[in-house]
Amino acid sequence: MSRDSELGIRTRAVRTGTTRSHEGEHSESIFATSSFVCDSAAQAAARFSGEEPGNLYSRFTNPSVRMFEERLASMEGGECCVGTSSGMAAINAVMMGLLKAGDHVVCSRNVFGSTILLFKNIMARFGVEASFVSLTDTQAWENAITSNTRLLFLETPGNPLTEVADLAALADIAHKHDALLVVDNCFCTPVLQRPLELGADIVVHSATKYIDGQGRGLGGAVVGSKKLVGGDIYSYCRTTGPTMSPFNAWIFLHGLETLSVRMRGHCENAMAVARWLYEHPAVVKVNYPGLETHPQHALAKKQQLDFGGIVSFEVKGGQDDAWTVIDNTQFISITANLGDVKSTITHPATTTHGRLTEEDRELAGITRSLVRVSVGLEDVDDIKADLDRGLSKLV
Ligand SMILES: *Cc1c(COP(=O)(O)O)cnc(C)c1O
Repeated sequence: MSRDSELGIRTRAVRTGTTRSHEGEHSESIFATSSFVCDSAAQAAARFSGEEPGNLYSRFTNPSVRMFEERLASMEGGECCVGTSSGMAAINAVMMGLLKAGDHVVCSRNVFGSTILLFKNIMARFGVEASFVSLTDTQAWENAITSNTRLLFLETPGNPLTEVADLAALADIAHKHDALLVVDNCFCTPVLQRPLELGADIVVHSATKYIDGQGRGLGGAVVGSKKLVGGDIYSYCRTTGPTMSPFNAWIFLHGLETLSVRMRGHCENAMAVARWLYEHPAVVKVNYPGLETHPQHALAKKQQLDFGGIVSFEVKGGQDDAWTVIDNTQFISITANLGDVKSTITHPATTTHGRLTEEDRELAGITRSLVRVSVGLEDVDDIKADLDRGLSKLV
């Protein structure tokens, strides 16, 4: 079945991209092969020259990876998708595929830590400069643009404070200055937010998170136009090899099938946990876009279908008190990973954001009393009870 925009996203999540072999398998297969054979020397020559389509080598194309790519592209509303070995490989492929020495990038200050390091420690060595701005300050984005700005990069909602950026406004600003808007859509997935429909040019994913959803494999993807993603970004990947493995593609392909129901479950549980935390006497602040008190609640309601599975909160007191909450949980996993069916809990100031200076952390609003929870699919009353084991000690 080919891409079909008349079908709903849940149908496409289950049906789009499927290629059935002559064996008639119902469930999509893992094509565990590094290379592919041709019928003749002439056919091999035609495939290598690009005259005839067809698989040659799994660094270039692989049927399992292609099924995943077609399915995700359809769900995001993009023409083209390239699967990669991790989320960071996807972000790196966008930068290396599209930028050259002398170019400039504007990036939100609160993006994934390794993304900041990619700009500061690696891209800088190749002559690409980056400026960092507040995710929600639209004017600051425009002010940071120079004549060399090639792209704007952000995540929304932000991690761990769940601030929400105005995607349509930032797409307009980018395009007014001949730049591209690139959105890391990891937190929402295409089920909750489709940046390309709001004007973004490229979407990147860490498939490691909600797309897998059960913490089994690392992967990533870039989605966008045939020209950008099918052109320079694909060429970069084909040449340098940050390729998605067929086995992981098979995990993610089947992950997409259940993504809608899982995201609904994450959102429902996260909303209930956020409301409960809001009333808790040991909690001084809750960050969740679904709460009416969230500064961008109205924007999140407009641009997202629902509010996602990530909740963060500040406890009364400081780091010791935040650690008390974490250490008293019985089943919530203490890990910085997120997007899993299993709830996870982390202390951003000493883990995900531990490499920032105290001053940068203050600027970003990541206090020592802040705890982040990726709300999973366990019974919500059990999740609340597990968080309350430590919280009740603080009142
Ligand atoms: C985890 C993550 C990444 C990096 O993905 P990997 O698969 O770990 O390389 C990028 N962006 C966001 C928002 C993430 O949460």
